[in-house]
Amino acid sequence: MLNETKNLSVGDAQAQVLRHVSPGESEEIQLEQALGRVLAEVVRANRDQPPFDVSAMDGFAVRSADLVAGGAVLTVVEDIRAGDMPGKTVQSGQCARIMTGAPLPPGADAVIRVEDTQALTDDCVEITVPVKAGNDIRVRGENMRNGDVVLEAGTEITPGVIGVLATVKRARLQVYRRPRVAILSTGDELEALVAPFDASKIPESNSYALMAQLQALGIEPVRLGIARDKPDELARFLKQGLDYDVLLVSGGTSVGVHDHVRPTLADLGVTMHFWRVEMRPGHPVAFGTRGKSLVFCLPGNPVSSMVCFEQFVVPAVRRMMGHPNLFRRSVAARLTHPVKHRPGRAEFIRVTLAQDAAGGLLATSTGSQSSGDLTSMARADGLLVVSEGSDGLAGGDMAQVQLLDGSAFQGGSGLVEEKS
Ligand code: AMP
Ligand code: MG
Repeated sequence: MLNETKNLSVGDAQAQVLRHVSPGESEEIQLEQALGRVLAEVVRANRDQPPFDVSAMDGFAVRSADLVAGGAVLTVVEDIRAGDMPGKTVQSGQCARIMTGAPLPPGADAVIRVEDTQALTDDCVEITVPVKAGNDIRVRGENMRNGDVVLEAGTEITPGVIGVLATVKRARLQVYRRPRVAILSTGDELEALVAPFDASKIPESNSYALMAQLQALGIEPVRLGIARDKPDELARFLKQGLDYDVLLVSGGTSVGVHDHVRPTLADLGVTMHFWRVEMRPGHPVAFGTRGKSLVFCLPGNPVSSMVCFEQFVVPAVRRMMGHPNLFRRSVAARLTHPVKHRPGRAEFIRVTLAQDAAGGLLATSTGSQSSGDLTSMARADGLLVVSEGSDGLAGGDMAQVQLLDGSAFQGGSGLVEEKS
């Protein structure tokens, strides 16, 4: 049954989607394949790290009591390299040459870095500074203690997390399974990427942009192709798409006489939960479920398709992948120009972001906000949100901007001037 009663706000529509989504099952993978995945298990330390008190410097392990006078000449009794175990106890008047990461020998309670010493002979060194007990020692367990939780379930696996997993010797680990996603484009007017140019047709771009939006989330989707606006052909394609965890259907969700997607989905047993959201671009967006499969019917207009993907598909797919944070980061930015708006629909305006002199962010429209103009999407750093109740914004007003993928980079580091 189609529920055609009420138009929803974006927030209510997101809540409806998320009500039907839970994290997927877990699977075991190799550490080398884990980047970008989400941990489905708690990871604990397998030993104390460091496993014993170790030197933080290349230098000499000493007894601090020998140096209370501010320096001393000491006999070097052994060399201890990282990976070695010390063989001797350091007695009064003695020291051991020690490398960064090597275990502290018994008897020693401090390390003097090599820069604060003067070699007199091979086995005799002059220490020129006083030292406190514990100096330049990394104590046993200061990074992690055996059995401690070092990574919680739900942690996104970044390069730093990969390093921690390797440290605790996890060659294999449990992560959430990624959803299998299919994309179907619909429309008699569409011309495939490889088809010869025909001026009367419209180049099919949505399935590629959607594919890339999914790839940016770590998902490799399947593109099913282009279905013509005929119910039986559409049904054949949609049936295929419903075998996936998520089906994205592009186009055909409006109320035109050739828009057969929603009735055909209903015939195939899909329950539609909503089919209009008070937003611009993107008004005719629909969401349905059949069993555990999710179906998003995205508007055909290329920008609307991408914006609706951001609002509804991103949080759903991220939850399926086990991410606790479902939405893109939003930042506050100051508008450099006024924005006209009538209360009713939330509006998503494509903007670029720049930093002002005080370190705040400035948002500027990328130009045409037509839902067919993809070039202004290609230039955007983010989507500025004009709330549904707003009656317009003035230049200088603050607004929230949802960052788009790739907007977390800038030209300079801020630390070094690049010379040309
Ligand atoms: P529809 O939602 O099917 O009414 O489509 C609205 C408009 O979006 C159409 O007039 C097409 O110009 C455009 N459109 C639909 N599907 C695609 C697609 N897959 N790629 C690019 N443009 C599309
Ligand atoms: Mg169409």
